[in-house]
Amino acid sequence: MFTATTKILGKAQRGHYAVAHFNINNLEMVQAIVNAAMKLKSPVILATSEGAIQYAGMDYLYALAKTASEQANIPIALHLDHGRDITIIQKAINIGYSSIMIDASPEDFENNIALTKKIVQLAHRKGISVEAELGTIGGAEDEVSSRKIRYTDPLQAQEFVERTGCDFLAVAIGTSHGAYKFQGEAQLQLDRLREIRKKVRIPLVLHGASGVPEKMVQEAQHYGADLTGVEGIPEAQVKAAIKEGITKVNTDTDLRLAFDAAVRKAIMTKPKDFDPRHILAPAREAMQKVAEQRIWVCGSVGKAR
Ligand SMILES: [Zn+2]
Repeated sequence: MFTATTKILGKAQRGHYAVAHFNINNLEMVQAIVNAAMKLKSPVILATSEGAIQYAGMDYLYALAKTASEQANIPIALHLDHGRDITIIQKAINIGYSSIMIDASPEDFENNIALTKKIVQLAHRKGISVEAELGTIGGAEDEVSSRKIRYTDPLQAQEFVERTGCDFLAVAIGTSHGAYKFQGEAQLQLDRLREIRKKVRIPLVLHGASGVPEKMVQEAQHYGADLTGVEGIPEAQVKAAIKEGITKVNTDTDLRLAFDAAVRKAIMTKPKDFDPRHILAPAREAMQKVAEQRIWVCGSVGKAR
């Protein structure tokens, strides 16, 4: 069955590497991610957003992840990403997710604490760990969108973790959700991260850190996509953030871009072939390559045992 997220991240924190979290929406994504992790003997976290649950249903996604974890010989956790709906959070706790995120980051400090604390109590009763968010990570992804980044304050982070009892903390240090992140170069505030790291002992989580690789964007555009203005976080900056204490790195956008480019190519280059398997298999392969690259960036290759 699933491995506890606390176990995967605790080991990573002690070993000074990070573990990749990938968002899943369908069968091909689960297979791509798990094949990548198995090939590289890495632990991995599969995550469902509320948007993914609206699309595919929690039971279907849970069953896909469960099948993968039963067949794979690597630690796999199932995580609820950006939980905001109490009904969905409660169901994830009951059904047996490894961990859930309560995202009360749009609330003010005290309300964020109160809401997070309530969810921590619910989840811990069932032995499930909780990720919370302090500050606001910018950008748009699924149901989560915010125009402005509110950076995480290190002192507030310390107080927040102490008062809520959360297990992992998502921090806002200059990353942004989605493919349209910034105008110009990304600049992560590593000094801020270092200060937070000094004040907070639990694993820290980096959201909105997709690379948006140029080659993939060009491929998608070549086959008809319009991705003007997309921008990612350079891998060197993600690695620097891991060095300063990030233990979980979330990836969604890069998988979507890989999927998009491959599907467009399959349809455009083989206009007579309408077999869904011939359209989706190349997408699965392309997503596996992305997942492998992200696992390398995290430094978790060979850490499955
Ligand atoms: Zn996120």
